[in-house]
Amino acid sequence: MTADMWVKFWGVRGGIPCPDPEYARYGGNTACVELRCGARTLVFDAGSGIRPLGRSLVAEGRGRDLDLLVSHCHVDHLIGLPFFAPAFRKDATIRLWTGHRGRDEHLHDAVAQLMTRPLFPITPETFAATLVYRDFRAGDAFDMGDGLALRTASLNHPGGATAYRVDFRGRSFGYFTDHEAAGDAPDPALVALARGLDLLVVDASYTPAEVADRRGWGHSSWAQAVALGEAAGVGRLALFHHDPCHDDDAMVRIEAEAAAARPGTFAARDGQSLEIGAAPSG
Ligand SMILES: [Zn+2]
Ligand SMILES: [Zn+2]
Repeated sequence: MTADMWVKFWGVRGGIPCPDPEYARYGGNTACVELRCGARTLVFDAGSGIRPLGRSLVAEGRGRDLDLLVSHCHVDHLIGLPFFAPAFRKDATIRLWTGHRGRDEHLHDAVAQLMTRPLFPITPETFAATLVYRDFRAGDAFDMGDGLALRTASLNHPGGATAYRVDFRGRSFGYFTDHEAAGDAPDPALVALARGLDLLVVDASYTPAEVADRRGWGHSSWAQAVALGEAAGVGRLALFHHDPCHDDDAMVRIEAEAAAARPGTFAARDGQSLEIGAAPSG
């Protein structure tokens, strides 16, 4: 892999994994996205898609130094962590980031709750890797070293969630899930964070018809995602966190409508990869 910035989707679904055959084209794993910036590997969320990612990283010898950026602790974003192969390697260091600080919540506690009897047979002490927890306040910015600049913001979601933006060698990537837009007008703070991004992965759980009945559920429609991308002048939008009710036929319709509304927009699929900042490949 020679691209400066490259992304691969390992889990694109929200809520719960959907292994059913009618979900096979878009994929049924929950949220997990790999971002490679030169020699660095960043992982966004630890949904069920992080299991195949972990196997791939170990096979490539790339799993020894990782940053795992967690949007929030809902179980569809953490459920894969106990199956993440690099976490069981003594020679690995994983920095776990989350924008919880100030809300008296800590990622370490959430992981311990997830991995406890009777819910799970092993505890986090079973991990052999060095896990470094980096709880911060959503809105903070960080120099991650090696030319990576990280900026964050709060998302509107039950219990809160964090939006991430990474800039590296003139290219930029955003990961904004889970988020409920307040209406048709995008949140100015998110427009500012997304300004000019090459690629924005964005919560588009619902159709415009569905979102009206789901106020307070913490998610947006593809039309609200498109409005955010348009307001921020984003290069390409990747619709993400697909609702478990949307099988492949539904996703084909959603993707076509969104791409008609904003050319270049696509619905992310498990296994899909692309170079960021390169010309669209269709
Ligand atoms: Zn979710
Ligand atoms: Zn959530």
